[in-house]
Amino acid sequence: MKKNIKTIAIIGGGPSGCALATLLNRRGFKVAVFYVAKRPEIIVGESLVPAIIPMLRELGIEDEVKSYSTYKPGASVWVNKDEEATSPFGFGEGSLPPYAYNVPRVNFDKTVFDLAVREGVQFFEQIAKIEKTGNGDELKLSDETIKGINDFFKGQPDLIVDASGRSRTISRFLNLTTKNGYRKDIALFSHMTGTEKIEPFNIHLHRLEKGWAWRIPLPGRTSVGVVINPKHLESYGATKEERYDNYLKSEPTLQKFTSMGKRDTAVMQYDNYQVISQKMYGTNWVLTGDAGGFLDPIFSSGLFLAIKGSFRLANIIGDGTNPEYSRYQKEQLLELKMWQRLVDTWYSGSLFTLFKVGQDRMDTALGRKLGPQFQKHLTRIFSGEAVYVGYSRRFLNFVTGSMLTLMKVGRLHNRNIKDLEIK
Ligand SMILES: Cc1cc2nc3c(=O)[nH]c(=O)nc-3n(C[C@H](O)[C@H](O)[C@H](O)COP(=O)(O)OP(=O)(O)OC[C@H]3O[C@@H](n4cnc5c(N)ncnc54)[C@H](O)[C@@H]3O)c2cc1C
Repeated sequence: MKKNIKTIAIIGGGPSGCALATLLNRRGFKVAVFYVAKRPEIIVGESLVPAIIPMLRELGIEDEVKSYSTYKPGASVWVNKDEEATSPFGFGEGSLPPYAYNVPRVNFDKTVFDLAVREGVQFFEQIAKIEKTGNGDELKLSDETIKGINDFFKGQPDLIVDASGRSRTISRFLNLTTKNGYRKDIALFSHMTGTEKIEPFNIHLHRLEKGWAWRIPLPGRTSVGVVINPKHLESYGATKEERYDNYLKSEPTLQKFTSMGKRDTAVMQYDNYQVISQKMYGTNWVLTGDAGGFLDPIFSSGLFLAIKGSFRLANIIGDGTNPEYSRYQKEQLLELKMWQRLVDTWYSGSLFTLFKVGQDRMDTALGRKLGPQFQKHLTRIFSGEAVYVGYSRRFLNFVTGSMLTLMKVGRLHNRNIKDLEIK
């Protein structure tokens, strides 16, 4: 990695790009962001976790986010259409605020964008094109791109940051090795009105007979998303709207909560996620946010990790040495790996099995002793803290793994984890 970086081009004006631009601008770097103004009608990434709140405060945008969002005090998980487990964030008892927000994403992105504009970051409404310089993996902005910004950098920028989200501009261009998750799900979502009221404004996560769903209460609307293996979807129609509408009608849980509602937007489709680049930096480039890797929508970690990565990066750009960039890469990959472990407990069925076993044994001495511990550490999954507190991580690892096995061997339960896996 080059030293003495003074000028930086950021590809992508989403949350990770704009947060990074603001932080670098505050540190005196010359920064330009390439962005695309046209946005879809609705965008996923509406449920925030408490772990993001300290960063919103540091950026100085929490009050603005609060003004158009719903106040999210916790998360509710449904094993089937009638059994719900609610985790108010306060149960986590950790160091994080006991709340987050559900944000209309278009507003949220505008808030982070406007902040950077207010603070003097230069934006260019233009798709950034990159090319190889011919010197190893070194990159440059294409002549056309440089021309489009009136030679803002007086030549090439010292550093190119890829914050282009799932476009993964640099990763694709350099054909970087990726680690791809085993889930190949498709997510379909829309905003609805008139659906079952949600109060307080928790995110609701539903295990379905096929796949899973979210319901996120937004002001005046509910975001309803379904995450399904594509093989289940084909029989529901040809278009994404037909598939989504018919699926909602066919799933007993979704029927219960949405049948009285009406879809207010088009249906948006997302696929091909769970892709993580194994290299996060090169000679004069670095990846942040989803451009580096995105895991999975469950547990709402996306925006938190995207902005956290930008905070981490802002601390090393400048005098950063190779070991510092190497540590950045290591930390980013390790963090995604730790989140992946939690995500796996959702899909494998072990989290639901734990819930059922807990219910079965609630009235035993062991149940009474472990109950509050479960409550605390499971809540930390939804607040984002579980990954960062070693004890919580180990506890959750143990209770969703060895403990369930040992209890089964000791005939303390006879449930099969596979029965509750997400199909
Ligand atoms: C189904 C699903 C559900 C999700 N739900 C949640 C959730 O509830 N909570 C949560 O926190 N996260 C969620 N996420 C993840 C979240 O959406 C992302 O983690 C987040 O958007 C990442 O922000 P980013 O800034 O890295 O990328 P993005 O938000 O994708 O922004 C990248 C920007 O770069 C622009 N761009 C791309 N290429 C170029 C180019 N060449 N030149 C200029 N601009 C370019 C794009 O137009 C875009 O505006 C979900 C993701 C999925 C797939």
